[in-house]
Amino acid sequence: ETIGAMLRRIASTWPQRPALVVPAQGVRLTWREFDDEVTRLAAGLLALGLAPGDRIGIWSLNRAEWVLVQFATARAGLILVNINPAYRSHELEYALNAVECKALVLARAFKTSDYLRMLRELAPELDASAPGELRAAKLPALRHVIVLGDEPAPGCRRFDDIPIRDDADALALVDAVQARIDPHDPINIQFTSGTTGSPKGATLTHRNILNNGWFVGECMRLDERDRLCIPVPFYHCFGMVLGNLACVTHGACMVVPGEGFDPLLTLQAVQAERCTALHGVPTMFIAMLEHPRFGEFDLSTLRTGIMAGAPCPIEVMKRVTAQMHMGEVTIAYGMTETSPVSFQTTPDDPVERRVDSVGRIHPHLEVRIADQEGRTVPRGETGELLTRGYSVMRRYWGDPKRTAEVLVDGWMHTGDLATIDTDGYCRIVGRLKDMLIRGGENVYPREIEEFLFTHPAVAEVQVFGVPDEIFGEEVCAWVRLSDGSQCTDDDLRAFCQGRIAHYKIPRYIEFVDAFPMTITGKAQKFLMREEMARRLA
Ligand code: ATP
Ligand code: MG
Repeated sequence: ETIGAMLRRIASTWPQRPALVVPAQGVRLTWREFDDEVTRLAAGLLALGLAPGDRIGIWSLNRAEWVLVQFATARAGLILVNINPAYRSHELEYALNAVECKALVLARAFKTSDYLRMLRELAPELDASAPGELRAAKLPALRHVIVLGDEPAPGCRRFDDIPIRDDADALALVDAVQARIDPHDPINIQFTSGTTGSPKGATLTHRNILNNGWFVGECMRLDERDRLCIPVPFYHCFGMVLGNLACVTHGACMVVPGEGFDPLLTLQAVQAERCTALHGVPTMFIAMLEHPRFGEFDLSTLRTGIMAGAPCPIEVMKRVTAQMHMGEVTIAYGMTETSPVSFQTTPDDPVERRVDSVGRIHPHLEVRIADQEGRTVPRGETGELLTRGYSVMRRYWGDPKRTAEVLVDGWMHTGDLATIDTDGYCRIVGRLKDMLIRGGENVYPREIEEFLFTHPAVAEVQVFGVPDEIFGEEVCAWVRLSDGSQCTDDDLRAFCQGRIAHYKIPRYIEFVDAFPMTITGKAQKFLMREEMARRLA
């Protein structure tokens, strides 16, 4: 099945049930309305002259139009290219040219990000060109710029001015196009988060992400009565697959609390829309739990949700279960290149397993743990996690070299260190790139982070290695203290003494107010490492 066909099936099963709610935009659509809008938009995009296989970028935070474009492009056979809202001009240029986008849908601006201005800097030709006829020296493939919102802009077509046609011919054309799409066709190019360096464009098919969305929803036991609050970015697979596709495959309602993540707006949306599920990376849950108004909200409708994308501290899991009523919260592990999820806990797993592991392998996927030479290690030992199956991407777009580095005989080399026990439960030990070797000992930063997190004054902590002349590498911790608490680096080291091995005790401890983060809320240790190297030099 293709994504467009699946949406049609859901819409005819639950035509009157809620599909999409975006309070900030006053949007409330049923599945019938949503499916109709998607078809009309697909017809409009084809009428602009876009053809199946063409790439169309989207550069916006979470808005209703994002979801409509996601499904309209799938229905029209266009390849949607998710562009990170944190990018700046030169990254936009890289992404648009790397995949030769013919069209770009963009939000005008969000907070201090003026997307339209950045595009104009890159393509000053825009101002003098007619909509759909851009010829820009730096963006040779780009023709169409479609701007969200009411205000017109030179050279751009407003989203509402896409020639929406709902005559029978246009709709029949969409159906004909949809019927010719193969589930193995690429539908999406998603850039990875850029946690460890420059983002890579994973090329994913209908079969990849549609099935993954379905299995994710199955683990959460979603059905058409559920309402899932999605504060994680759509541009990332967490939003578009674990959020939108998990909902659509199950007929559950998508609730979009705001364009960017805001703890207060998220809490408000959960209460107002009586959400049953809520997604987030660990830092988002921490921000909600620590919000001064947290106690005011009735979150008793919540049942489940996914915490993923980065290591989930056990303490945070406990508070989410107890204080946010998310007794069935599931932890998932995945990566953009595998559509993304490959491991997930379910409510059937014993509670202890749901906090200390990322669960068991998803259906129809294979897994093995390998040593540096690629040999499978004995059960229970640590090595690199490899996965294989329907969810693995086709390739990094236009990058055979990096593709060959990670894809060998269909096995995706995740770059993550993990162990799997005899019951099949997987523990993520950390990233290969983050592991440090201090005086010959392997040190896994994650383990030290978990330990420091048990100190009452520590709100957030990131541990990484810095070069050291004697030991090769030394352990460094960046710590954010919780509001109002006081603590020195010596206090923290004293806390470690006798409770973790001496070589794991951070030699350097720095207190910070914030960490360098990807927009997906992941701490970028490579930037911290660079910064520490400067400070220590
Ligand atoms: P880049 O590949 O560009 O450096 P990235 O790997 O962060 O960035 P994503 O594809 O968004 O890009 O994230 C996948 C990675 O996130 C995984 O490889 C893993 O390191 C981490 N991750 C995901 N889920 C979990 C989890 N539950 N526990 C620990 N780590 C996780
Ligand atoms: Mg990665």
